Order: sequence, then C-alpha cells, then structure tokens
Amino acid sequence: MTGSSMRILLVDDVQLDRMQLAIRLKQLGHMVEAVSSGQEALDIYSDFDPELVLLDISMPGMNGFELSQKLRQRYTEWIPFIFLSGHEEPSMIAKAIDAGGDDYLIKPVDKLVLNSKLIAMQRIAFMRRELKKTTAELAKVNEVLKQQVDEDGLTNLYNRRFIDSTLSEAITWHGRHNLPLSLIMLDVDNFKAYNDNYGHIEGDKCLISIGQMAKDLFCRSGEYVGRYGGEEFVILLTNTDSDSASSHAQRIHHGLESLAIAHNYNCNVGHVTVSQGVLTIIPTGKETIDELYTRTDEALYRAKSSGRNCFKLVT
Ligand code: GH3
Ligand code: MG
Ligand code: MG
Repeated sequence: MTGSSMRILLVDDVQLDRMQLAIRLKQLGHMVEAVSSGQEALDIYSDFDPELVLLDISMPGMNGFELSQKLRQRYTEWIPFIFLSGHEEPSMIAKAIDAGGDDYLIKPVDKLVLNSKLIAMQRIAFMRRELKKTTAELAKVNEVLKQQVDEDGLTNLYNRRFIDSTLSEAITWHGRHNLPLSLIMLDVDNFKAYNDNYGHIEGDKCLISIGQMAKDLFCRSGEYVGRYGGEEFVILLTNTDSDSASSHAQRIHHGLESLAIAHNYNCNVGHVTVSQGVLTIIPTGKETIDELYTRTDEALYRAKSSGRNCFKLVT
C-alpha cells in the first residue's frame, strides 16, 4: 500500500452504484471494502480500520444517518465520513453534517469531484497519521522527562527534589493517621580517600553500586531510596516503626558486607562501608522536612564519631 492510498469503507445498498464506485476507487490505488448495509459496516469497521467512509443515505434497515451516528458514538477517533445521495436539498446536507458527516456528494458522483474530494481527504488522513505519530513520540519523550525530573542522573535513584516532596506529604499523612514513619540517612565512610586512591570514575561506580544495592533492598511500595547529595543517601520508610527501621539499617550494613567493594583506605575494614542515622517519628503533621533531616543527620554524625560503619538512632 502506498503512502497516498487509503483504506476506504464504502456502504451502499445498490449493487451497481457500489461496484462502479469501488472499481473507480481501486483504480485510484485505494483499498476498498464495499458492503451493502449499515449492519455489515458496523460488523467489519474495527477490523478494517478505515481511513475514510463513503456512505449512502437511503438504505433499508439502517439508513446512512443512523449508521454515521452509531459509528461516531462507538469510535471516538475521528476519520472523515462522506455521504452519497441523490438528494440535493440543503436540509439533507445539514442533516448529514449533523449526523457526523464531513462532506456530501451528489449521486451520480462526478468523476472529477470525487477525485478532488479524495485528494482533500487524503491530505487530512495524512495529517492525522502525522499527528498521531508526533503525539506518540511526544508521549514517550514526556515519560522520559517525567522520570528525569524525579531521578538522580548518576545513580538513577530518586533525587532530592522527589524525596523532599514525598517526605513532606508523608509527614502530613502519618500525622493524620497517627502512624510512624522512619528516615535513614547514610553517608559513605572515608569516601574522599576512595576517590583519591581509586579515582573519581571508580568513585562514581561505587555510588552506583551502593544505590543499586539499596534499591534492591527497598523495593516495596512505600519505600523510597534517594540520593541526598554527594555520597549521602536517604531512605524513607512509610508506616515503619523503630524496631523495623533498626533491622533495615542492619540489612544495609550486611548488604555492604556482601557487596564487598574493596576499599583499603577505610580504617582497616577493607571494604566500602556507610554510617547511618535512623529516625522514627509519629509526626504531628507540623514538622518540616528540614527538622527531620537535621535530627537524622545528628544521629549520622554520632555514628561517624563513634568509629563509622554503624548506625545510631535518633533519641
Ligand atoms: P566521612 O567518613 O567522614 O564521611 O569522610 P568522607 O571522606 O567520606 O567525607 P568527605 O565529606 O570529606 O568527602 C566526601 C567525598 O565524596 C568528597 C567528594 O569528592 C566525594 N563525592 C561527592 N560526590 C561525588 C560523586 O558524585 N562522585 C564521586 N566520585 N565522588 C563524590
Ligand atoms: Mg558526606
Ligand atoms: Mg562520607
């Protein structure tokens, strides 16, 4: 099928009219499905998926107006309908447009007029195809952009912006429902030494691996892993009490043991570790995100000053 050909559904109860027109349309390079009643047209419509419908008005059973109305109700996607009729009265034309038609041709259809109308409809069909393609492409780009707005470029974890807004909503929600939420902040130990000795690129890879590990550990709904900035990560655990939060911090600790990224400049541990601050709170709903971050950060720094590679709870 060439780019300029269309799938045309032709509906006419008069066999001779139908066959003559079908032949002419086929000669013009179009793919034609010719049927003799409104019911047949309804039956094959979605399988044939026409780009243009030519329909007679006076037909036994369901007339062209009824068919047009039914099709317009059933299929929301617009395609051109052209009515064919022996009646020239303006009121018929008005009725045809009212029934969902886009144009009206007087039978017997003049060859030149038919060709011109088809060219005009082809133009519309082409534009519609292009528009559909562009819309689909835009939707795809939009999807990617939407993801990028929430994502950290290096680790593909949630970014700070997303975590901030999710935490803010979580404070309100948990306050309203009187439920505990937990926040874990973690900072890679001696990461400057890692970069200095293994290089920045290896440093980046290390952050990606830690991020992936955390993402694998916290993949349930209501669990959010984000990059807080630099070599610091944040994990928001909704509806999670203090005991669970502690065991989650343990899981991270063990996760890094299993990951075993060599780091020979990390206080004799031999692999990459993190220090963690863990906060659990039943919020009133009035707390700010900064308050929560500050309190969690204090616990994180207690973990740092008590030798690193451990977690401390906000008391
Ligand atoms: P501490 O155990 O006290 O946390 O020591 P540290 O060396 O990890 O902390 P410090 O704040 O001195 O250094 C953090 C380092 O993290 C310095 C910075 O270059 C590095 N860093 C931050 N962001 C990135 C990044 O995106 N990629 C890489 N490779 N390094 C990063
Ligand atoms: Mg840091
Ligand atoms: Mg650090």
